[in-house]
Amino acid sequence: MVESSGAQAQAEIGVIGGSGFYSFLDDVTEVTIDTPYGVPSDSLFIGEVAGRRVAFLPRHGRKHHLPPHRINYRANLWALASVGARQILGPCAVGGLRAQYGPGTLLVPDQLVDRTKGRVQTYFDGEARADGQVPNVVHVTFADPYCPVGRKAAVSTAKQSGWEAVDGGTLVVVEGPRFSTRAESLWHAAQGWSVVGMTGHPEAVLARELGLCYTSLTLVTDLDAGADTGEGVSHEEVLEVFAANVGRMRDVLFDVVAALPDNGGRDCLCVNPLGGQEPGITLP
Ligand SMILES: [Zn+2]
Repeated sequence: MVESSGAQAQAEIGVIGGSGFYSFLDDVTEVTIDTPYGVPSDSLFIGEVAGRRVAFLPRHGRKHHLPPHRINYRANLWALASVGARQILGPCAVGGLRAQYGPGTLLVPDQLVDRTKGRVQTYFDGEARADGQVPNVVHVTFADPYCPVGRKAAVSTAKQSGWEAVDGGTLVVVEGPRFSTRAESLWHAAQGWSVVGMTGHPEAVLARELGLCYTSLTLVTDLDAGADTGEGVSHEEVLEVFAANVGRMRDVLFDVVAALPDNGGRDCLCVNPLGGQEPGITLP
């Protein structure tokens, strides 16, 4: 349910990230949404960026009270879709798995490995919802987990702003909230994976199920335990590096927003994920 109705409560693009990205916008409308999957992490904060309506959603809640494994990812993506967002940008903090991906590196992954446990990662589980609708069991193609158009926009706009992004790489998503052991970290690196985070999954696959374009922008805040001979990752270190880069990240995000195609002009693999399979539920 959208409490603030009308054009102010509509958006074409969603950004899943904290208040540092929207707090200084002139005119922000707070919109509370309920979904068939419960409430999202927080209200949506909808404002205008580069002439486009953008809905910001603090992934961990505005007070950062939700650890990665307790985020209601299904409600988050559903809420963004229900206000009209069809393209999602998902900035997140990650650990670098290679020595050359030190703190401050921006990496736009093109692949994903799921090492989470027990997170609900589909809308199509065949289980009746409280509202009586019953989703069918369907399977989406996920060989390419990220929107190619959004990725290209992210890499090229970052470059134009003087921040050379790493174009491609594999994000491995772990359950958390603890950081990796050295053995886990060395194993991740030995697989050839690039960065490690805790929130990139199931965000990307739920976006895909709803036919949304999803682009992950990862900011390296630390070298993961195995890629560094130091003391291992600390939360303070992560917060410090993220805070130091939040302005730069915001600038890139806003440039990407400006570069994204109109929702009506989307022509990418994300648009028709069900490929003729019947969802069984009314999609937002
Ligand atoms: Zn797309």
